[in-house]
Amino acid sequence: MRDSDCIFCKLANGEIPTATLYEDNDFRVILDTNPAAKGHALIIPKEHYRNLYDLEDDLAAKVLVLAKKMVNTLRVILGCTGYNIVQNNEEPAGQTVFHFHLHLIPRYDNDHVGLGWHMHELTDEERDEILSKVRFQ
Ligand code: AMP
Ligand code: ZN
Repeated sequence: MRDSDCIFCKLANGEIPTATLYEDNDFRVILDTNPAAKGHALIIPKEHYRNLYDLEDDLAAKVLVLAKKMVNTLRVILGCTGYNIVQNNEEPAGQTVFHFHLHLIPRYDNDHVGLGWHMHELTDEERDEILSKVRFQ
């Protein structure tokens, strides 16, 4: 399904011009218009999914294969020395466009791109609470 009110549906399907790096039947890969670093790209599915919570399994599998292909080509072209793959789900996690996308963020030595977080130590209580509730089928 596509959403007529969604800008990424329009970008992914070519209704709005983009700086396209790659396209296939399922995805378009474009340059982010507000890059965190030179070469910051987005993998966007052509069908509308709000985020990873409802992305179809076959696309979820394909997107990481495509990410691997893209970064292995782009890292040579860009001359970057690292890569972050980032994917935000819902507002508290920083999602601002509610159509699934994977960020490919090239990293360069001493680039000072801020993707860090403050860590705390896993307590016994936190560990036991989570492990006692988790049941995957
Ligand atoms: P997120 O915060 O994970 O939802 O990421 C949304 C990303 O989309 C941001 O990095 C924006 O810079 C980027 N973005 C928003 N509109 C456009 C657009 N028209 N073309 C390319 N990138 C866009
Ligand atoms: Zn959409």
